[in-house]
Amino acid sequence: MLAVLSGGTGTPKLLQGIARLLQPEDLSVIVNTAEDIEVSGLHVAPDLDSVMYSLAGIVNEGTWYGIRGDTFACHELLGILGERELLRIGDRDRAVKLRRTLLLKRGEVLSEATRELCKSLAVRANVMPMSDDRVQTHIETKPGTLSFHKFWVVRRGKDKVKGVSFKGVENAKPAPGVLEAIEKAKAILIGPSNPVTSIGPILAIEEIREAVVQNRERVLAVSPIVGNAAISGPAGALMQGLGYEVSPLGVARMYEGVVGTLVLDRSDEGHARAVEELGINTALADLFMPDLSSRIRLAREVLSLAGVRRGVVARGTNEE
Ligand code: GDP
Repeated sequence: MLAVLSGGTGTPKLLQGIARLLQPEDLSVIVNTAEDIEVSGLHVAPDLDSVMYSLAGIVNEGTWYGIRGDTFACHELLGILGERELLRIGDRDRAVKLRRTLLLKRGEVLSEATRELCKSLAVRANVMPMSDDRVQTHIETKPGTLSFHKFWVVRRGKDKVKGVSFKGVENAKPAPGVLEAIEKAKAILIGPSNPVTSIGPILAIEEIREAVVQNRERVLAVSPIVGNAAISGPAGALMQGLGYEVSPLGVARMYEGVVGTLVLDRSDEGHARAVEELGINTALADLFMPDLSSRIRLAREVLSLAGVRRGVVARGTNEE
């Protein structure tokens, strides 16, 4: 059994590889929901959707959000009608978000709605929101406090970051099943996601952090930073804003006391010693995952480092 902490881009790539090597019932994914937002009355959960779509094999790999080949008729007509949506939501993607919203309106909590959606999308791994309670990322910048989407989607990450906080996190409880998945897991994987705004909120939920820290020897993280930059997204600017060096060593400092082993890119071998001085073991692998074969290759190395036994032969690839 593997428990994975995930955001919506880097870790879903790795999950595609892991899903080809593990039985779905041996995989739990605990997903950041601090970027959830209401758009046109819909409950949008960007990271949950990316994880579900990635495991369902329908994610748009150009953007790592939305469904491959989707159309945008509704979004475009809404624009003509005078409704400018903050996010560009595809028609099929909208149906998923609408179904989630309806389930929530009928009284289900987010973890129940997620289970329903996974069932309908034939996702058999145990995908869970980090919490059923509302947590919201706030980014303090020079011009003021911004939501994650205002900071990244509207203002393109151009404001200098002064701080990050997660509103509501003090009172947030882990979603049902989250602590059990962490405690039962042979290994806990912190995927290559943004350490500030994707993994940060999950670990800011006190009970989750405690459970992870207690099992620190079994916690493995894959660096989302290679060299001196994030592979995509605002992780670099956010880390810098919080006073961390943008490097695998900066990632190690953020995860100090939480992680047993950090996987660095082979080209970052020079950082290994400094990371080990923080009491974190290191391993080296090729961390770029541009295609399925690289995702399966990294997944195989990570599972082997984690001591997790593989169960399934890859489907539709010649990797195995
Ligand atoms: P978000 O929720 O969309 O911000 O996505 P995540 O937090 O899951 O992913 C963003 C992080 O994934 C960034 O910090 C990237 O550097 C990292 N990332 C994206 N692609 C890759 C990859 O191929 N390999 C690794 N190691 N990290 C990646």
